[in-house]
Amino acid sequence: MSSTDEQVQETKEVKETEETVENASNNSSDDNFDLGEPHLLNDSPEEPSTTTSTLPTTTSDAAWNPRHNFTADSPYFKSFCDHEIQSLSLLTDAMREITTRTKTLCQTGALMGEATRRLASSCRLRWDEEQSREDGMTPEEIDQLVAARRKAVGGEMAELLEHLGKALDEVAFYQIAMLQSIESTLGMSFEAFAASELKTVSILKSDADEATEAAELQFGKYLNGKNNFSESFGEKAAGKTAAGERLGKAFKNWNLGRGGHDAATSNPGDSRIEKAMEASNLVSSLEQVRVLQGMAELRRFQLMKHLISIKHRRNFEVAENAISTLHEISNYHGRCKTAVDALSPSIKEIQERQNKLREEHASTIVPTWQGRETALRDAVHSIRIKATEASKAAAAIADGDAKEIERQLLKVDDIEEQVQLWNLPHALAATSRYQRDTMPGVKIEGWLYKKNTSLMALQAWQRRWFVMDNDAIYYFSADGDDRPYRRKGAYSSRVKVCDVVLCTVRELPVEGQGPRFCFQLVTPSEKPLTLQAPGPIDYKIWVDGIRSAMEHRLYHGDPNAPHLNQNLGRKPINSGNTRESSFSELPPTEVREVSDTSPEMETNPLGPPQNASPLVEKIMNLNPTCADCGMASPDWASLNLGILVCIECSGVHRSLGIHVSRVRSLKLDSISLAEGGVICLLGNDKVNPIWEEGLAAQTGWQKPTENADRKGREAWIKSKYQWKGFLQYEGCEGLTDEEKVEKYSKALYDAAKKCDLVAAAGSLARGGSPDWTNPDEGGRTPLHACALVPVPEGDEEWHAIEMAEFLLQNGGKL
Ligand SMILES: [Zn+2]
Repeated sequence: MSSTDEQVQETKEVKETEETVENASNNSSDDNFDLGEPHLLNDSPEEPSTTTSTLPTTTSDAAWNPRHNFTADSPYFKSFCDHEIQSLSLLTDAMREITTRTKTLCQTGALMGEATRRLASSCRLRWDEEQSREDGMTPEEIDQLVAARRKAVGGEMAELLEHLGKALDEVAFYQIAMLQSIESTLGMSFEAFAASELKTVSILKSDADEATEAAELQFGKYLNGKNNFSESFGEKAAGKTAAGERLGKAFKNWNLGRGGHDAATSNPGDSRIEKAMEASNLVSSLEQVRVLQGMAELRRFQLMKHLISIKHRRNFEVAENAISTLHEISNYHGRCKTAVDALSPSIKEIQERQNKLREEHASTIVPTWQGRETALRDAVHSIRIKATEASKAAAAIADGDAKEIERQLLKVDDIEEQVQLWNLPHALAATSRYQRDTMPGVKIEGWLYKKNTSLMALQAWQRRWFVMDNDAIYYFSADGDDRPYRRKGAYSSRVKVCDVVLCTVRELPVEGQGPRFCFQLVTPSEKPLTLQAPGPIDYKIWVDGIRSAMEHRLYHGDPNAPHLNQNLGRKPINSGNTRESSFSELPPTEVREVSDTSPEMETNPLGPPQNASPLVEKIMNLNPTCADCGMASPDWASLNLGILVCIECSGVHRSLGIHVSRVRSLKLDSISLAEGGVICLLGNDKVNPIWEEGLAAQTGWQKPTENADRKGREAWIKSKYQWKGFLQYEGCEGLTDEEKVEKYSKALYDAAKKCDLVAAAGSLARGGSPDWTNPDEGGRTPLHACALVPVPEGDEEWHAIEMAEFLLQNGGKL
């Protein structure tokens, strides 16, 4: 580093020396040819150094054992200088190469640092904000995207990547710091050193050469140039200064004097003066030659001194920079290691967790996947076997196989049941490990075929995902794509069909070969919307579900919308099909895993299992078997009959229509406290005696068992509830039908007044009308009657709410 200073010093010295030379020559001319001692002329001119006290003197035996001054002009010195200069030039090349490559490294290193930083940013799940701003994204949108990214990567993995990103960030920082430091040592000072040295040396060299040449030229000409010596030297000197001119003249005179020696002796007096003048001029001139020789020696010495000093400074320079670079490298690695080490506790933690999860994955999850897959394969396999059997049977029938012909079912319903057409989705879902929770508020959802009302429409029926929540029925607008959970594009909006409270379901009977499972949503303001369910099960779920939701809203209102009932009969503000632009994206649906032991899997393939409420538990404990077939653990309730039935019987109940039986699932539907209370007060044990009171009087009837087929159940349930075949009508002999209704309606009214649900059930079963008005009590209906029952004081039970609920379920009107 200090080389530059030295350089300056050196250059200064060189300049000073030059000035000295100049002064010396000036002085000599000013002194105007001081007469030197004549004996000097006799001294050997080859060794001028030996005669002056300022130069190192050689001893007298030097001639015999000469110790040569190295900087004296000699081939050795020249060769040394050439070698050193060549070596310096090689050094410069080497240094330049290092510098160039250092610069290349630092440039690519800067790129790498930037790349590392970008990688770090990606690992930390950052967003390229600059680009995003160019794309016109707001900071909120960027935040949302980042949050979505983090979620997609997963919390723990995002944490791990964050660690990695931080480490990379630090590495990039240290990397850049290291490269900057290396660039300032290897890149800058090396080059500066080598370049300036070479320049200085070349100046010194040319100075030394010039001085040597000048000295040699003068001296050589003095030695052997008697004729042209003075002229040429004089010319050369005259070219520079006036003093040089005088010097040249002195030589000339001296030569002339010597040349005309014989003639001069003729006049000894004159010649003595002239000779002395010439001699003194010669002395002066020779001193000038010696000055030049001395100067040349000085310059050569300076050159050599510099050349040798370069070697030392080269060593300092290289050592300093190389060691500092090594330090930087070592620092860089140390800092990287520290940065990574700091992370290692949390990394270790994540690693251990991951190892555990990996084991768990291999030991539990993968086998259950395999189990599920095997179950599905088995299911497909058994269906395939049945398909083969069916085609064989078909072939046999075509060949006239009487047995097969006999065995072949002929009714479509029976065939569908035989092949279990409608059960397949349930059967497949039953073994599933994964279930989906419905979105909050959703009561029913699923595919329905929507009949196109437009004549221009290409397709008569469009498959749409329908949803019913507490308030309304919607379907997702797909525009050609029926996948319901696409995040963008399709399903950008949902279309509201109608408010639950304003719509009626009209069941459409099958006419000839027309479509089955069709129903219409009838609203006050729009054309009826015709829908087709993909099977009887879905059909019932939708028809009953919509009806019950509507009734529920009518009777109970909605705690969230207390004024809704006031809208009755009024056209809703958002009438008909309203596109809700705010519904831009479906909230993500979480897949829920069900444990193998969960009983819900078997019983509720259709929907999300709900945790059994205490009320549901109580109802099920009170009614351990199906009211109609005796199957254990029935979980379907008939709200208007006040009984529990099994899933098989519930199907039959449903088929009778809601005026006979309103069926709800205890597990899939939500049962209100009042509805639950009705079943608690009634129940199979109290209701069956009413409906089966006259069974003993009938012949040929036997109650079905849990193994009964559908036909058996249907016959029994229809006879019992629809045709009322097993009821007893005591004390009705001779009464007309109107009189009977009057009698049991009055009985119902009385039961309502007492809030006696069992009595009310008996009266209703036998034809009592909940709309009957009592002329003796101001034309009140049973509903009015029970509503007037005062809340008793103390602990006495009060069932007015259950009574009202029961009447409403049986068609009572407010
Ligand atoms: Zn049953």
